[in-house]
Amino acid sequence: MFNNAGRKIMSIVQIVFWILLILGVIMIILGIAMLAEARSSYYSTGIEGAVGWALILGGGVMILVSYVQCLFYAAFAQLTENVQRMEGSLQRLSGSSQGAQPAPFGPPVCPSCGTQLKNGAAFCPNCGTKVN
Ligand SMILES: [Zn+2]
Repeated sequence: MFNNAGRKIMSIVQIVFWILLILGVIMIILGIAMLAEARSSYYSTGIEGAVGWALILGGGVMILVSYVQCLFYAAFAQLTENVQRMEGSLQRLSGSSQGAQPAPFGPPVCPSCGTQLKNGAAFCPNCGTKVN
């Protein structure tokens, strides 16, 4: 139920994104076309008309830029999530392998037979192996 609602919101966001993208493209094309028209027939359109179409062109560019930024942000967020998930599994991997090894700061043991050694012992009391 919650998943369905989330999916619905996502599709609405996607639709809004598409509308914004199309709107931005239309505004840019219209702005460029009307600016060219205003330049070719300067006296009929007037400077106010040219400024208006330039504003529309700028608005379209801004919409497209923010759209691309949103896309990049979404891709970046996805990438960050993936990296974090990878790091988490790596940490779990190294953690499990560390658990299998003897503790690095535990009491010293003989490398040959595994008997616990007294601190500073030069030889293993069980098998006589020289230890450092
Ligand atoms: Zn030993």
